[in-house]
Amino acid sequence: MRFVADHDFHIHSTVSPCCHDENQTPEAILNYAKQNNLKKICLTNHLWDENVTSEAEWHDGQRFECVSSVLPLPQDPDVEFLFGAEADMDYNYVLGISKERFDTFDFIAIPTTHLHLVGNTVKTKIQTPEECADIWLNRITELLKKDLPWHKIGIAHLTCGHILKDRTPEVIKLLTDEKLYSVFSDCAAKGVGIELNMKTLSMSEELKNIMLRPYLIAKDCGCKFYLGSDSHKTSALETAKENFEHIITSLDLKESDKFVL
Ligand SMILES: [Zn+2]
Ligand SMILES: [Zn+2]
Repeated sequence: MRFVADHDFHIHSTVSPCCHDENQTPEAILNYAKQNNLKKICLTNHLWDENVTSEAEWHDGQRFECVSSVLPLPQDPDVEFLFGAEADMDYNYVLGISKERFDTFDFIAIPTTHLHLVGNTVKTKIQTPEECADIWLNRITELLKKDLPWHKIGIAHLTCGHILKDRTPEVIKLLTDEKLYSVFSDCAAKGVGIELNMKTLSMSEELKNIMLRPYLIAKDCGCKFYLGSDSHKTSALETAKENFEHIITSLDLKESDKFVL
């Protein structure tokens, strides 16, 4: 059975400092779910838990107090609206959520690829694709060494533009099959979710071949996948479902490939 696009586990609302659309409210997000027949959605605003010490300075809007200000989330008989967060990892591989806080959330998306946050996730600006590929691998490898409740964790946007903007495909090309098989075998063993949200709809065939390779290897390793639009604005919600279907087709995903919360 084909993978059913019935969820979206990565969505931001107005409390995220990088959301600049005042209409991106929990109510609007719930509406998006109803219109697109999604059964389960999760709000994942940016979190840096103030109980975790970091050398880096994090935006006050990432404190737990801000992230939890959305509660209680609106509910609907047809949609389960979960409370989650997108927790960053600093350049010393310190994760921005304390052990105790995991229980508060239904789901945590962890981005290892926020490589644009100089002074937070990387010490200095990355200059070359080679340097970037090493950091990509180091960050996910270090994350996987942690003792975490993997069943409620997803690794966010592994091939996104935050990696090295328009040079991101060069970085992805430098990740060898061997290294990717090693990383994703570990992901599969732990049961962590792998996020899908790349805009394959608007990609050339050549670009798609480059950018889908990590996910095809992840699938081959037995990884489980979830859809997460990473929408920060209502216009992004409008195209999310169509793109989800496109990725599902591109990767030929089945229901058995799904990460279930
Ligand atoms: Zn992110
Ligand atoms: Zn996000």
